[in-house]
Amino acid sequence: MDVKEIPKKPETFPGEVHPTPGGGILVTALDDVINWARSNSLWPLVFGTSCCAIEMMSTASAKYDWSRFGFEVARASPRQADVIIIAGTIVNKMGPVLKRLYDQMPDPKYVIAMGACATSGGPFFYNTYSVVKGADHIIPVDVYVAGCPPRPEALLHALISLQEKIRGGK
Ligand code: SF4
Repeated sequence: MDVKEIPKKPETFPGEVHPTPGGGILVTALDDVINWARSNSLWPLVFGTSCCAIEMMSTASAKYDWSRFGFEVARASPRQADVIIIAGTIVNKMGPVLKRLYDQMPDPKYVIAMGACATSGGPFFYNTYSVVKGADHIIPVDVYVAGCPPRPEALLHALISLQEKIRGGK
């Protein structure tokens, strides 16, 4: 007599994790939501060292109002900030201070170099022994803002560019 073989069920164990088709979609969507939330609630640590700081303060004032874009809460403590805005000249003596502030910020953290001095040493690039020739000699920079000083519109553009960068991240 012919005995028909019953197909075996795949063995499963309690608590076993099986791959779900399309599971990647959920993770990708979650990434997008987290990045969207993160990019819209950036708390800046203000590191104003000279003239560019005046334009940075102006960007926060009622006329330009960076809080419209989610940069509402400027912090004086690195432990409560996501993005450091370096606005002004960095002299050699300040280098270790900038590094320490950056190290104290929680991850993920971002850096904006505002103005020619923070970007490259600016007008002090030549013939000055005491100026750091760009913040990226000390910490990594995400967005550079050209100008001496940059106008508030330029800083707003940099902040929006940073938001776009964060939204595109994984
Ligand atoms: S870039 Fe120009 S305005 Fe800004 S800190 Fe340097 S000298 Fe001052």
